[in-house]
Amino acid sequence: MFADIPGQARAKAYMTGALARGAGHAYLLAGPEGLGKRRFALELGAHLVAACGGCGGCDECDRLARGVHPDLTVIEREGEFIRIEQIAELIADLSLKPFSATHRVWIVIAPERLNIEAANTFLKSLEEPPADVHFILVSDAPERVLATIVSRCQTVEFQPVADDDLAAFLVTREGLDGQRAALLSRLAQGSLERALRLAGDDRGAQHRQRYLRLSAGIVLHDRDAERSFVDEVGNAEAAAAGEVESDIARRRAELERIVPDDRERVFHARRLEALQRREQARVSRLAALDALDHLSSFLRDVWAVGLGAPGAVSNRDRLAELEHAAVARPDIYARLLDCVGRTRKDLSLNVDRRLALQAMFARFQEVWERA
Ligand SMILES: [Zn+2]
Repeated sequence: MFADIPGQARAKAYMTGALARGAGHAYLLAGPEGLGKRRFALELGAHLVAACGGCGGCDECDRLARGVHPDLTVIEREGEFIRIEQIAELIADLSLKPFSATHRVWIVIAPERLNIEAANTFLKSLEEPPADVHFILVSDAPERVLATIVSRCQTVEFQPVADDDLAAFLVTREGLDGQRAALLSRLAQGSLERALRLAGDDRGAQHRQRYLRLSAGIVLHDRDAERSFVDEVGNAEAAAAGEVESDIARRRAELERIVPDDRERVFHARRLEALQRREQARVSRLAALDALDHLSSFLRDVWAVGLGAPGAVSNRDRLAELEHAAVARPDIYARLLDCVGRTRKDLSLNVDRRLALQAMFARFQEVWERA
């Protein structure tokens, strides 16, 4: 189990032991974003729901992987919060029997986003769950989850992944060569999600080239580079959302074909609609975060070069460009990095991302003017 998740030896050992004793009713997977908690939750869910125990090769596993198994449900915020209506729907479903499995799993992404009304209602089901139901909560910010919810769950902590583990994963699972895997795992800073985004495909590599080239311009006060950066992010978001749309359209067509039961088909169609909205919001946000990650890595590198520490550089293939760009006082880059960090936080809220990026570049101007 968990072969697709690098690192996390303690979480894996804990969960394997727990499953051997019989799965608990509620787990909270906690730790910084991008460590594979969502994958872990889905794999754990598949293990609990599938008759095969999650072999990964049968029809049922296939349906689980494609998000069309009625006994595994993912709840995620729509807009800023997880709304009471979403929890009410969950509770209505709790009174039903599982469709095909003996267990049902509800994965709640970011339970810190339950608004107070939804949290209190959810807490009731968490306190008295039907015998066949398991809750898996996934949080990047467990300290913001209601304490009464946390106390009902067994907490499983996730840690940043060691560079070597990430690199080995990129080689064996993503087919990268050793040198590229080593470079990407350094850039990923312990984050599986980021490593996968970087490795994803040629598009990831092209994005990296473009964002780094624009970052080099931005560091040298090129306003056109700033505008192009904002446009580039918009294009990347639209492309990512478009991919989700065609993927969902494919699934919808497939649903018509493979699910003969009317009740079940209607159920899936409703889920797919919600899934599309959610996934589009998620991938768009990730596309924007990806851009900021590249800009941050460039700024960190220019800072390192400015401090005379080129050995600490992540983008080692751009050393000449970095040396050319490192003309300001090193502390300026530290302040610019702060601005990017602030914007990164803003982007995880429900803000207009284009405006947030423009505001970030306005703050860059202030940093330079004050220098
Ligand atoms: Zn299977």
